[in-house]
Amino acid sequence: MNGPVIVRPPVDGPAGAAVTTRAGGVSTGPFTACNLGWGQGDAADAVLANRRAVCAALGLDPARVSVGRQVHGTVVRATGPPPVPGGFGGALEGWPDGDGLTTAAPGAGLAVLGADCLPILLWRRDVPRVAAVHSGWRGLAFGIVENAVAALGDPSRTGAAIGPGVGPCCYEVGDDVRGRFTARFGPSPVRGRHLDLAGAARAALTQAGVPAEAVWLLETCTRCDGGRWFSYRRDGAATGRQAGIVWPAVSASGA
Ligand SMILES: [Zn+2]
Repeated sequence: MNGPVIVRPPVDGPAGAAVTTRAGGVSTGPFTACNLGWGQGDAADAVLANRRAVCAALGLDPARVSVGRQVHGTVVRATGPPPVPGGFGGALEGWPDGDGLTTAAPGAGLAVLGADCLPILLWRRDVPRVAAVHSGWRGLAFGIVENAVAALGDPSRTGAAIGPGVGPCCYEVGDDVRGRFTARFGPSPVRGRHLDLAGAARAALTQAGVPAEAVWLLETCTRCDGGRWFSYRRDGAATGRQAGIVWPAVSASGA
């Protein structure tokens, strides 16, 4: 197989961050090729092979990468080491909810999975401490980004990367959701009947005190770009998951 194609957001601190794409990997059919999600119907051995390949490319031990059960909640759970209660190298069943994860353990990764929802990766720019967030509109509206920023302890020294999600071109939402976002973030994340999820995430980060220049945003749309991304809205329930992964550096010199 070709190695997984991975996007590396710039990180100005003792941490590493990565966003996987669907390119490079061993999954087939609707899960082609680098599916990292469990429970959508892909073969378990393929998912594990993809997860191992991604971790190898990033220099991470899959047994030290945490992933939670994602329920569109707002809790940010402290983890690792070891990952609580398991790792990226095993099955998802029986794991606690974890749309938000945080750790200060060097080399311990945090993974969030998505197929239209945003992976949002955060790190302290001065000390090895990171957080990862999986968020659709519910998480954003109910404060998971603010919770993750607070968990890191110093917004002025926090950086963030907003990964691939469904773009404002493809994300129509109801009146109630638009109303929530206008009330919380002002008019800019709402475009007609559509919602700019990434723009709202950026607003949530800066409102929580993260400097605007410390927020990196991947300009894309998971539904429009089927060559790079899995998309629930485009392909339905049987599709794969890309991941955002963040980890505190093992040494101060880099990830
Ligand atoms: Zn689109």
